[in-house]
Amino acid sequence: MRYDFVVIGAGVSGITSAITLAQNGYHVALVEKADRIAPLLRGFSRQGVHFDTGFHYTGGLGAGEPLDIFFRYLGLSEHLTSFSFDEDGFDIFNCENPGFEFKIPTGYAKLQERLGEAFPDERAAIGSYLSQVRATCNALPYLNLDMEIDQNSALQRVLGPTVREKLDSLTENVLLKSLLSTHCLLYGVSCDEVSFAQHASIVGNYYESVRGIRGGGLSLAQACDTRLSKLGVDVFCSSEVAGITVAPGGALSGVRFASGGSLACNAVIATVHPRILLELAPEGTFRPAYRKRLGALEETVSAFMCYAVSNRPIPSLAGANRFLLPDAGCLSDLGRRPIGDAPLYLSAAYRKDEIEPHGFIGICPTLFTETTSWESSRFGKRPEEYRRYKGQCLERMQIQIERAHPDLAGNIQYMEGSTPLTIRDFCNTPLGGLYGVKHMVGQYNPHPTTRIPGLFLAGQAVVSPGVMGAVLSGLLACGTILGHDIMRKELKACC
Ligand SMILES: Cc1cc2nc3c(=O)[nH]c(=O)nc-3n(C[C@H](O)[C@H](O)[C@H](O)COP(=O)(O)OP(=O)(O)OC[C@H]3O[C@@H](n4cnc5c(N)ncnc54)[C@H](O)[C@@H]3O)c2cc1C
Repeated sequence: MRYDFVVIGAGVSGITSAITLAQNGYHVALVEKADRIAPLLRGFSRQGVHFDTGFHYTGGLGAGEPLDIFFRYLGLSEHLTSFSFDEDGFDIFNCENPGFEFKIPTGYAKLQERLGEAFPDERAAIGSYLSQVRATCNALPYLNLDMEIDQNSALQRVLGPTVREKLDSLTENVLLKSLLSTHCLLYGVSCDEVSFAQHASIVGNYYESVRGIRGGGLSLAQACDTRLSKLGVDVFCSSEVAGITVAPGGALSGVRFASGGSLACNAVIATVHPRILLELAPEGTFRPAYRKRLGALEETVSAFMCYAVSNRPIPSLAGANRFLLPDAGCLSDLGRRPIGDAPLYLSAAYRKDEIEPHGFIGICPTLFTETTSWESSRFGKRPEEYRRYKGQCLERMQIQIERAHPDLAGNIQYMEGSTPLTIRDFCNTPLGGLYGVKHMVGQYNPHPTTRIPGLFLAGQAVVSPGVMGAVLSGLLACGTILGHDIMRKELKACC
């Protein structure tokens, strides 16, 4: 059997690609290394509490907003129930030094008003920042279905200015700049490296509305299972691709599995990390300069993460995430601060069918180099020294968390941690990047097309991390194949 398309990697971007192509009448195989599709989204449970791993919340899922339209187009909406995060404060910014708390509300107007109340001398800067975020989002193809694909908007992400440069041009208020940069923790790149355009394309959606999905990432993964099966996509799990094969004339001919065996196809969409792609592409098919570019891509920051269960409900974490910042300068050079004195993101975790959280997940940006001395050890067989390191990190994290949340002190009954090594293995990012490669000023941004005819790219490396970015990358790849006008017309029919 010969497939029209093989999609490598069944994360959000691969699933989006497979569904879109199948909906357009193509015969598609979706191939995933893990034993189930969407492994990043499924999370895990401990002591009756479910911890989401790859999805807590998203912007742009409100009625008629881009992700809502995309989910409807993909036939996922009917299987999902979304809910609003606290509109009065979906994220709570908590700075220790100087002591300052700010509840970030949804809605541009409300956000502008509240920022203006907290920083009355900065109203002009705030207005200018927000209108530039909004304009950037409105100018992006697919986020705005009336926009043509324009090379300039893609270049802005690589050429800058950075978020820091943009904010420096607007204000000298360090605390305000820190507050407006906080969401860099959602994409893992410091404000002095990420372009303002990239930042705006992500945060702009959160400023509109913020929603979660009942049942979390697991529900999204299950909705994808249902949809793929209904469309007749052939899903191959526990099937690691070891190579893309090319016929003597240079045309793409299929994929080869690490365990032996192969699939024949006319075209491939690869959604894996660009470094993994280099291992899959046949020798000599990519130009040396392209190989060098992909091989040199820097990764987003890694993280130390904790998963905690409380013996009492934690109302302070319901409906909102917390960003704990030791000081206003801690968002530069992400990962370089020691755990306990670094920014920390907290998101609630729930028992089945309970409304109040009974646990939380904590994410602290950490450099992969913290764990390189154990990098050759395997999951479940790490040495004692590594376990001690983990224990010390957890202790420092717990102190920081209990300082900010005295209601938790003495109530944490279970706490486990994961390190950059865990992230490397779980997220399939060779250098432990939490969100794959960095999107930053001065760094090449991979395109959906490649030099190999019939080989297309999607995934968080192509557009941006996040469910929205991964979906967008799948649509962009399929738009390149089917025609962007056709894709946009189909999407508009779902508005
Ligand atoms: C801790 C954490 C929290 C997050 N929280 C949020 C959030 O709250 N909201 C949000 O929007 N986003 C969040 N994200 C980001 C979001 O989950 C990701 O950006 C998105 O899921 C990436 O999708 P993808 O398809 O690009 O990549 P992936 O999900 O990584 O998909 C690639 C797939 O390829 C497979 N693969 C790799 N190599 C091979 C091979 N050789 N053969 C076959 N298969 C292979 C992998 O197993 C993987 O399933 C979070 C991420 C993390 C890590």
